[in-house]
Amino acid sequence: MIIDGHAHFFNKKTFGSNFPKNLKMTEAMKKMASTMDHTMEENRDAWIKAMDKEGIEKTVFMSTSTLNEEFTSFINSSDRLVGFATLNPELPNAVETVKKELENGMQGVKLYATNGQYNIGSDKTFPFYEYCENNQIPITIHSGVTIGPTADLFTGNPVHISRVLSAFPELRVLMAHFGAGYFREVLMLKYKRENLYVETSGTNNWIPFQDNFHTLKDVFKKSIDIFTPDRIVFGTDTRIFPDGYRTGILNEQQKILDELNVSSQDKEKIMYGNMAKLLAK
Ligand SMILES: [Zn+2]
Repeated sequence: MIIDGHAHFFNKKTFGSNFPKNLKMTEAMKKMASTMDHTMEENRDAWIKAMDKEGIEKTVFMSTSTLNEEFTSFINSSDRLVGFATLNPELPNAVETVKKELENGMQGVKLYATNGQYNIGSDKTFPFYEYCENNQIPITIHSGVTIGPTADLFTGNPVHISRVLSAFPELRVLMAHFGAGYFREVLMLKYKRENLYVETSGTNNWIPFQDNFHTLKDVFKKSIDIFTPDRIVFGTDTRIFPDGYRTGILNEQQKILDELNVSSQDKEKIMYGNMAKLLAK
């Protein structure tokens, strides 16, 4: 069994619905925006079909705008589609917003540290994290490199989360894409901490920008050593249109786990069990 721990639902009503008007879309974003004519129902049907084919029980979708009605109806259209809301955790109404998102059926939060123009570790965020800790709401963070016109590595450094991890030891934080270029920092953050996970999704095209010559297999090996198979969550970062499910990423990561002789029990945790536990209340 598999849970895909990171995916997106994009169409014209979800993508760019809160895109800042004073900013230009990057070429990569324009390309994405040109492929979004599909309805919510077409997206759902394509997803369910792909999940059936790949043996995926559930997929976790990262919203890109706050309290988005189209995203909410997509998530609520099947119990196999899990939603993570997004918001600015520094805003004074962050806790109220999370409460509304949970009422809408969301089960976690995604923070776009690099794109969101907020500091994921400032004092202002603490009420938000406190609420998430008390209510066992998992948080996925995209630090490091990313497309997006507001991307700024100054806020995208995951080290900002260090003081949050110590202040809220029961909070569950997942670093998407192995930290997307801040792999060393993510490994250091794990020092004597139980509340941090790495998540494996995406093309992992940050690897060539490292000063060490990693391969994705090296990254998995190191993650298994430091994070243990109990703190690694599989994902693909698929958006289903126009290219379909990212089977290549699924296959590549499963092959790496096999090559590293990961036991079937540990593989099950990475591909399914760890995320299932995070979603269970
Ligand atoms: Zn993503």
